[in-house]
Amino acid sequence: MSKIKHLNLIKKGLLPLTSIAFFGLTVFYWNNQNYGLALEYDGKEIATVPNEGIYRKASEMLTNQLDPKFKNVVENNSPNLKLTATNKTKCCESPKDVKKKIIEKSSDEFSKGYGLYIDQKIVAVGNDKQKIKETLNKKLDKEKANHPGWEVKFEENIEIKHGIFEPNQVKKINEIEKIINSKTDSHHEYTVTEEDTVENLTQKLNMTKEEILKASNATDGNICVGDKIKEEKDLLNVKIFKINTKEEETEFSTESTVDPAKEETYKETIQEGKNGKNKVTYETILLDNGQEETKQTEITVLENPTNKKIIVGGKEIENSENLIWPVPFTKKVTSPFGMRGRSMHNGIDISVRGIAGKDIVAAGNGKVEQVFYSGKGYGNHLIINHGNGKKTLYAHCQSICVSQGDKVKQGDTIAKMGTTGDSSGNHLHFEVRVKGSPQDPQKYV
Ligand SMILES: [Zn+2]
Repeated sequence: MSKIKHLNLIKKGLLPLTSIAFFGLTVFYWNNQNYGLALEYDGKEIATVPNEGIYRKASEMLTNQLDPKFKNVVENNSPNLKLTATNKTKCCESPKDVKKKIIEKSSDEFSKGYGLYIDQKIVAVGNDKQKIKETLNKKLDKEKANHPGWEVKFEENIEIKHGIFEPNQVKKINEIEKIINSKTDSHHEYTVTEEDTVENLTQKLNMTKEEILKASNATDGNICVGDKIKEEKDLLNVKIFKINTKEEETEFSTESTVDPAKEETYKETIQEGKNGKNKVTYETILLDNGQEETKQTEITVLENPTNKKIIVGGKEIENSENLIWPVPFTKKVTSPFGMRGRSMHNGIDISVRGIAGKDIVAAGNGKVEQVFYSGKGYGNHLIINHGNGKKTLYAHCQSICVSQGDKVKQGDTIAKMGTTGDSSGNHLHFEVRVKGSPQDPQKYV
């Protein structure tokens, strides 16, 4: 508790003195007089200046030595300086001399020192910069020794800056060390909920059981739901972390350019794609509860990916007026279109000895509408849509070399001859359908 009180005291009067600049306000103008100006400190003359300007310059130099952030902050602590008229005209002291004299003569009121600033807020003043640094490092070293393999640094921004302070503000190093290891006097209060246990509170608030009891308003020594606990946070917090750097690949994308002069089935790669490489930095932080949290903190591009470039055709394939024979190997029809006994044969069967595995080609330009793989009925078969309500079907294939949605041109190989499904030998069952109804293919090809 004494640490907190101590901090409060410091807070009140720890800013560097800046007030000397205000002194200029008491200066008179001494027009038409042969007098110089005597600069008095506590009633004693410390310098004679020919005019107010020299004094102003001196005080300006003094002020400039002070931290600019704290100029115009303290108005009450003005040293007892005065300018009066004097007929002594020995004068002619430079502003630099005057500044020096002000500091010399007012050593009771001024003390040079080093302010320790945490996140721009001054928390202590010492007169040995090196010792302040060592004390800070001691705190870091302790954490580093407790966490081998990890790096340590302060979470807060720390600065040690030279300045002019009141002598009683300057502390001995052991007092500064106490401040460095103290808690903040934060006013944040935690309200105990039904789910809280002493164990989870010690974790949540990062306080010991005793600290919690002390900081709570519990009068009977028991923590109850609704009790308020004043959270204590360390003034200076050490971050325990690891930095990891990895090289990671970045995937290329594909840029396609449409060539309207080429047919839709056209596709040409003009540049192969290549993945890029990034250097990625990750920071892993060790949390109070022992868990680790990893974040990506930096990305450096080592190599940009090279995009794959392709040209695709944009010209729609025109419907073919006429269909062609779908089996280049033979024109032999083994079963024609029409009634076959009592049932209707919706297509023609094409077959000859040695036909197995031979090419089946698209009878016209079009789009593969459906591809079926089956062991029954038509077996492996496909339907090509030629537009204008015209479709062709190719059944009992051994294999099919196009996929649903593919654009095909008349004469493209689309499948191989086989005997899949309800079939008694290698043959192509070929159908032509116009607006859904089967037609005699021999009238079309
Ligand atoms: Zn058939």
